[in-house]
Amino acid sequence: MDDLLLLIISSPSGAGKTTLTRKLLEAFPDFTFSVSHTTRLPRSGEVDGQDYHFVDVEQFRAHIRENSFAEWAEVHGNLYGTSLAELERSRKEGKRGIVFDVDYQGARQIKARLPQAVGVFILPPSLDALHRRLQKRATDSEEVIERRYQKAQLEIEHYLFFDYLIVNDQVEEAAAHLRGIVHAERSRRARLANHAETLLRS
Ligand code: 5GP
Repeated sequence: MDDLLLLIISSPSGAGKTTLTRKLLEAFPDFTFSVSHTTRLPRSGEVDGQDYHFVDVEQFRAHIRENSFAEWAEVHGNLYGTSLAELERSRKEGKRGIVFDVDYQGARQIKARLPQAVGVFILPPSLDALHRRLQKRATDSEEVIERRYQKAQLEIEHYLFFDYLIVNDQVEEAAAHLRGIVHAERSRRARLANHAETLLRS
């Protein structure tokens, strides 16, 4: 089995996925973040090539034509895609894990293409809490906040695509659960069978 752990992290916007992903990457320096392409405009503070590769619709469509995406989808009126080059990069850099921050459509496509991928879905403790968190994120307009809130229920309906669910009530506790998932996945027999066999043969 490939040693690279493919970890999909998904959630309705406002459930705390970005914070949890950042904490996971801090805890596991041998993980990398899959930098998606998007046609969305950068929010203040976002860095091109680090948060996203910001492209226009024409550039995005060229990637689709060239089959360079592992998956792509329209989310909240913008296009988002994961390029296959991100997987190559993580392997070249000798990473042991890669995190895909994608919506449920992306999760479904990655799972179809790379069935060994592990999907984690972050849930808010309640819809009220989700609404409050969306409003606190001052970077978005009221209209964007409402659109995202309305879509949250549709997104939550897709929880069945995922292997693990985490309720993000207390962020430190949720982060510990996420680290636990990585440890559990790394302890799977299929990942360590070669090691056991080597011991038996030595
Ligand atoms: P945001 O615009 O808030 O950064 O992201 C909006 C949504 O798009 C989030 O649910 C995020 O997970 C999703 N997203 C980000 N990158 C990708 C991607 O490459 N593919 C897909 N399918 N969704 C993505």
